[in-house]
Amino acid sequence: MKNLKIFAVLAIALLMVQCQEDGIQTTEQETAAVPEAIIEGLKAMGLDTETKEVVATERGYLVEGDMLIDAETILDPARKSSKHERLFNIISCRNSKDITVNNTIPGINDEVISAISDWNSIFNSDLKLRLVSSNNADLFISFDARNQGSSFLPNNGNPATDIFIDPTLYDFLDEPRRTLILTFVLKHEIGHAIGFFHTNEDFIRIPGTPFREAASVMNSQSSGIEGFQTNNLTTADRRALTLLYGRDDATSICE
Ligand SMILES: [Zn+2]
Repeated sequence: MKNLKIFAVLAIALLMVQCQEDGIQTTEQETAAVPEAIIEGLKAMGLDTETKEVVATERGYLVEGDMLIDAETILDPARKSSKHERLFNIISCRNSKDITVNNTIPGINDEVISAISDWNSIFNSDLKLRLVSSNNADLFISFDARNQGSSFLPNNGNPATDIFIDPTLYDFLDEPRRTLILTFVLKHEIGHAIGFFHTNEDFIRIPGTPFREAASVMNSQSSGIEGFQTNNLTTADRRALTLLYGRDDATSICE
């Protein structure tokens, strides 16, 4: 497993050198082969590895376009049954009650606040996100050039550690559309950070929620930025959050 990681890092390093020579700046390489064990592990997690190619990046594997998952998580021998997979990727009940978020991109503070308050507004959910400036925050939102938005998933009961985004990619949009779409993207990435997969691609579904919902904030966006959704959380998104992190620990899915 370590060897795989070293190989991936080397491949990225080589590619970055090549790109620099070509005068192209990129932080992510796109051609390193993804080991078969990784693809199988992702499939076992219920993730789609075919519609959108799995990409090896310096941070981890980019899956379904915007979910970052590291090799250790994918290959963890503790993940045995698919029933257990879902639990592995959500936050523990206890940790969900105060998730501190440090937004390190000053220009998007209003959008981050708005995205956070939407997730916090769900009456029957105990999950709460809190914006802080501490270096010990649970979750960091950081600038990453040419990244439309990506997020890690929760791991072992802890919230995801990082969301990455390049807000300047949205600057070509007129207001208020720029703000609406940017807020939507942040809301969507926070959704991954607290344990949601894509509503329109999941194989493993949260019990009691619809398989597909056209307006869900957690739909993956296949069109360009102009075509991204701007919705708020739907009734089903809200119900899903309540099922994961409901007021009553005894009946919610989190442990
Ligand atoms: Zn996504």
